[in-house]
Amino acid sequence: MAVIKFYNTLTREKDEFKPLHEGAVGMYNCGPTVYHYAHIGNLRAYVFADILRKTLEYNGLLVTQIVNITDVGHLVSDEDEGEDKMEKGAAREGKTAQDIAKFYTDSFYQDLAKLNIEPAARYTKATEHIPEQIALIQKLEEKDFTYRTSDGIYFDTAKFPGYGKLARLDIAGLQEGARVEANEEKKHRTDFALWKFSKPDEKRQQEWESPWGIGFPGWHIECSAMSMKYLGETFDIHTGGIDHIPIHHTNEIAQAECATGKKFVNYWMHSGFVNIEGGKMAKSADNFVRMATLEEKGISPLAYRYWLLTAHYRKTINFTWEAVEGAQTALLKLHQTFLTYEASASAPNGEYLEKLRSFLNDDLETSGAIASLWDLVKDESISPAEKHATFLEYEKVLGLGFGWSKEKLAEHGIKIESNLTEQEIPEAIKKLLDDRKLARAEKNWKRSDEIRDEITKMGYKLVDGSEGPSISKL
Ligand code: AMP
Ligand code: ZN
Repeated sequence: MAVIKFYNTLTREKDEFKPLHEGAVGMYNCGPTVYHYAHIGNLRAYVFADILRKTLEYNGLLVTQIVNITDVGHLVSDEDEGEDKMEKGAAREGKTAQDIAKFYTDSFYQDLAKLNIEPAARYTKATEHIPEQIALIQKLEEKDFTYRTSDGIYFDTAKFPGYGKLARLDIAGLQEGARVEANEEKKHRTDFALWKFSKPDEKRQQEWESPWGIGFPGWHIECSAMSMKYLGETFDIHTGGIDHIPIHHTNEIAQAECATGKKFVNYWMHSGFVNIEGGKMAKSADNFVRMATLEEKGISPLAYRYWLLTAHYRKTINFTWEAVEGAQTALLKLHQTFLTYEASASAPNGEYLEKLRSFLNDDLETSGAIASLWDLVKDESISPAEKHATFLEYEKVLGLGFGWSKEKLAEHGIKIESNLTEQEIPEAIKKLLDDRKLARAEKNWKRSDEIRDEITKMGYKLVDGSEGPSISKL
């Protein structure tokens, strides 16, 4: 196996990736809270996970990918206070929490499909894993990591010496800092809820019986419980947005490692934020752009994917309409160029495959991979047939729609113009087509390209297909 290196938040280094079990990888991606539409910032986390998965597969590894759906227990504040986001969404729309969850989960799946994200092995819902979460809390209780307050069962972070190692938290400083949270009963500022009791004066839509009383799970426990259920007590890769490092993932590690006494995850990987107008894009703010907003403005989801891939996944990026419009123009050009290469039995170009692999295996340098695809387009030493085959290899990981039918591309917002009939093609163009045919028979690719440029200058586009060239108006 080729060397793969990923930046591991745990070590703050690019570590060589070695799966726990030869040839197979277990990966868990923190999924959406389904109380609202996903915005395009959230979706970056899943494009990143998709590229990660496809890179591992490109290296011949079998990946089991689990994504959770948070449909209960994620409170509006990280301090375990305030409303449950699901109940908030339900109140906003006058629907039940279940209806809200179903609607936004479906919308999430649709967004993933538009972005050409391969479905995970499983999407696991928090509400469908309540017994597993209770069992994990019981295990922590037996090992004396928990305590009870008037509003729930809490994890005592002082009992886990490794607490905060992922985020390199300054625990002493944090504990000494001004107590800002409303919950006076918490022993330490970093302690967090495992199980919250339903308030006596309030009827929640989603609540369950438990050994401690009627209530609902804290947000973090679902991820520890479900990831270990499907991937084992120790697994390879866990991902999420960068905002998960100091609290959510820190708490997941505490719960899992205290319950099992084993290392929870070997590689922690985090994607950067998409900002808008210099600020954070958030579901709770009104500034969010979603997939449908892009489509309404004529931007293809694949162009958004392309734009994401032109930056490294860990970088913060700033969304602007100019940026995604530029990405769309570039991607369309790549598609139109790809269509001029005829399909044949040619093998892909080894040098470019090596470039692709080395960029991806170097902590997913997708921007380098895309730059090398443009180099391939411009490389005159390579025949169109070889370029065609090489593009299809890049497609395996980048997933930008090369090799798709025009209909499927159109469904994803990539519109390739329809061809002119034989009678509609002007005589001057027909003459150039004949010259070009001759040039190609002589393998004079340079002349062939020059003729295509002449045709372009005359306002027409030439596309080589399996049945010869076709012409459309620019
Ligand atoms: P949520 O649905 O809020 O639980 O978040 C889903 C995923 O989106 C998480 O991995 C977050 O870290 C990530 N996320 C939230 N906001 C942004 C943003 N503006 N840019 C990129 N990722 C984000
Ligand atoms: Zn999670």
